[in-house]
Amino acid sequence: MAEIHFHPRGLAIEVRGLRVTLGDTAVLRGVDFHVPKGQIVALIGPNGSGKTTLLRCLLGLQRPDAGQVRLLGEEVGPAVLKRIGYVPQRLPFDRSFILSVREFLSLRLRETRGWFWQRHRSTDAHLRAALAEVGVDHLFDRPIAGLSGGQLQRVLIAFSLLGKPELLLLDEPTAGVDTPGEQDFYGLITEVHRRHKLTVVLVSHDLSMVYRHAARVYALNGIICCEGTPEEVMNADSLKQAYGIHVTPYHHEHGPGHHHVH
Ligand code: ADP
Repeated sequence: MAEIHFHPRGLAIEVRGLRVTLGDTAVLRGVDFHVPKGQIVALIGPNGSGKTTLLRCLLGLQRPDAGQVRLLGEEVGPAVLKRIGYVPQRLPFDRSFILSVREFLSLRLRETRGWFWQRHRSTDAHLRAALAEVGVDHLFDRPIAGLSGGQLQRVLIAFSLLGKPELLLLDEPTAGVDTPGEQDFYGLITEVHRRHKLTVVLVSHDLSMVYRHAARVYALNGIICCEGTPEEVMNADSLKQAYGIHVTPYHHEHGPGHHHVH
């Protein structure tokens, strides 16, 4: 009898049979990707494995050739995308980007009209609280363009949290962050996850970065070639499929909810 997966809280992400061809490359070749609500999970895969393309499909920026995508139980569209937070790897800022952190965050608020360039006590308090939550309220009046990678990352998370997301997608979350900064970052994500009870998807090419912090790991290489707990996915066979390299064998048993596509 077929195994029945029961998700009492439903699925945050439900992708079935997703196919995308770009130019001559079949980038996504039938991706099935199911993320239960309320967990921190990792989507990993080497460069070129289709992570960005899958993210673009989730965000409604890339139309798939075939397959379905549902977020929080709904078809991708403006309504559900309001309930999703997306934190990009970086923003194409240069030194000429003139907004301060306060001004940048205020773009996220619905009514920006008249007060955008002015200071308003209640708005400022709200924005400051969002920064305080991610430990960077001291950056309030700093120019965005002058921030370090780690500081910008936190400001982008604060920006996302202002929209009260139920699902947070983080693309290469620790690119441009130093090693001690990385540990702090995952501590922060764990805390945000706990406090807001949201689903978090960490997207990364580096399994070692994310596996300690994820309840579940999905390895992408045109398809989801392996998924399971971090321990399950860390084994040599499945990682070889995702990365095409040899890694130290890891004790491995096939538990429930874990599978390979051979
Ligand atoms: P990742 O984010 O995992 O590095 P991507 O989704 O960016 O993977 O890319 C997957 C593959 O698709 C790569 O081989 C890349 O060269 C190819 N690709 C991406 N965009 C295009 C495009 N516009 N035209 C043709 N090929 C593309």
